[in-house]
Amino acid sequence: MPDEPQKTLSPHLTTGLIHHPYLAPGGFEAPQPGVFKASTVYFPSVAAMRQREWKDKSSYTYGLHGTPTTYVLEERLCALEGGLQCVLVPSGLAALALVALSVLTTGDEVLIPDNAYGPNKALAQGELHHFGISHRFYDPLDPEDLSRQISPKTRLVWLEAPGSVSMEFPDLPEMVRRCRERGVWCALDNTWGAGLAFKAFDLLGDGHGAGGEGSLSVDISAHALTKYPSGGGDVLMGSVITRDAALHLKIKLCHMRLGLGVAANDAETVLRSLPSIDLRYKAHDQTARALAAWWQDQPQCAQLMHPAFEGSPGHAHWQALCDRNTGQGLAAGLFSVMIDARFSQAQVDAFCDGLKLFKIGYSWGGPVSLVVPYDIASMRSAWPSHLRPGTLVRFSTGLESARDLILDLHQAVQAHLPIA
Ligand SMILES: *Cc1c(COP(=O)(O)O)cnc(C)c1O
Repeated sequence: MPDEPQKTLSPHLTTGLIHHPYLAPGGFEAPQPGVFKASTVYFPSVAAMRQREWKDKSSYTYGLHGTPTTYVLEERLCALEGGLQCVLVPSGLAALALVALSVLTTGDEVLIPDNAYGPNKALAQGELHHFGISHRFYDPLDPEDLSRQISPKTRLVWLEAPGSVSMEFPDLPEMVRRCRERGVWCALDNTWGAGLAFKAFDLLGDGHGAGGEGSLSVDISAHALTKYPSGGGDVLMGSVITRDAALHLKIKLCHMRLGLGVAANDAETVLRSLPSIDLRYKAHDQTARALAAWWQDQPQCAQLMHPAFEGSPGHAHWQALCDRNTGQGLAAGLFSVMIDARFSQAQVDAFCDGLKLFKIGYSWGGPVSLVVPYDIASMRSAWPSHLRPGTLVRFSTGLESARDLILDLHQAVQAHLPIA
């Protein structure tokens, strides 16, 4: 039986709950920005709906196009990285894909460093290929090789500093200069640097500032916010940051057409973590250096791959870009160890399994230390000449005490990687 229409002026309870007239007073201020959730956004009239502009963030049209929460996060990420425009996407990998789909078209070619984040290579091989977009891999340590491979078809060059498994640090300013000379877009996967270790939009750091005359800058910075900006190992998100309004618009339109929105609660999580990113990054860094220094003294370690350590591939480039001879340079919480070739894969696997504090798992930047053995031979075009033979194990340091982590490494090495 349908409800009796109410005889009073107040509407039906449900209608009243939905169309409640109360508006909370403005001016609320607290440490965390508000969390606004929406697919639908209201317009006061049809005329207003037709006129409303969202691309410049002056207002709102639809949840996918932005809310106060995503706008605030975008602006704070621009501040972190020194960019002017930002779009948010549901993962770091989606950021890499969005860059590719925004600037590449049939007949174009993309160049990717041979040590790049694996799924970026897979994106080119498995997806871009279907759009008639070709790819080539270049030697991340050889700017000459990059120049040689840039052809009239090349539209986009990916850069990564360092490669996040074998940790080679490229001569980033020189690579960017080569792209500039040849008029191709250069996009940096900035997940490792996170806007902290160096400034992607001001690579010379010579006081001219991002966008200043004579400054050297990448075109696009893609960032897996999943790592340090989140810091919790509990949220996936990515960003694409630029300093060129026309390039941003190209990316923003592609972003809209692909429907790549982020959830408000995820944006809230990143906003909550962002104020502590600098402190966390430095803590991860210090722990990683303590562990790397320990490894250097172990006979099981054939090679240490940590950009801040002498002898690591591209160490001088890290020094020039991140350290500038101050001794204060930052280097994240990631390093790899080439376990000597005398140990079998099974022994290395048993060592990883034998760790108690380090968990086995992908990703990094969260509170828990992680370990993953990688099969470099299957990941590279050829075994890189700068890598010693052996089995590569990558460590990502969490926020545990360095002493406890070293004790854990020690017990697992003793148990599973015996020196005869
Ligand atoms: C993790 C990572 C990504 C991808 O981020 P997801 O959010 O996991 O998709 C991209 N690049 C680098 C260097 C990464 O470490």
